[in-house]
Amino acid sequence: MRTIDEIIIHCSATPPNMYVDAKLVDDWHKQRGWSGIGYHFFIKRDGQIELGRPLEKQGAHTKNHNKNSIGLCYAGGVDKDMSPEDNRTSAQIASLLSLLRLLKNIFPKATIHGHRDFSTKSCPSFDATNEYCTL
Ligand SMILES: [Zn+2]
Repeated sequence: MRTIDEIIIHCSATPPNMYVDAKLVDDWHKQRGWSGIGYHFFIKRDGQIELGRPLEKQGAHTKNHNKNSIGLCYAGGVDKDMSPEDNRTSAQIASLLSLLRLLKNIFPKATIHGHRDFSTKSCPSFDATNEYCTL
């Protein structure tokens, strides 16, 4: 297994009424010429956690931070006008918390971040670092 020191959270930057799953993101990322979905986990609007890229493989989600990180993405994150909005469903909030707790058990030294900690983007549309600082 590669060294994991960061867990980085993303949103799909899609409006809340749009159905997005790991397969669709896989298609999008292949269209960009990548080998497939750049995230390791994807959380659908209904809270279902889907597997993306295998954990032992480096992801493609955060510039200069892919080598030693795990990338998580939830469906949503913008409103109908594509402006950043924390519109996570209660099911997504619960799934995200469970997944982060599990990952912190496996990789206790890993710190949790939002994409925006490393980018000028607003992704994932909420303050992940603050929300999960006690995990
Ligand atoms: Zn992102």
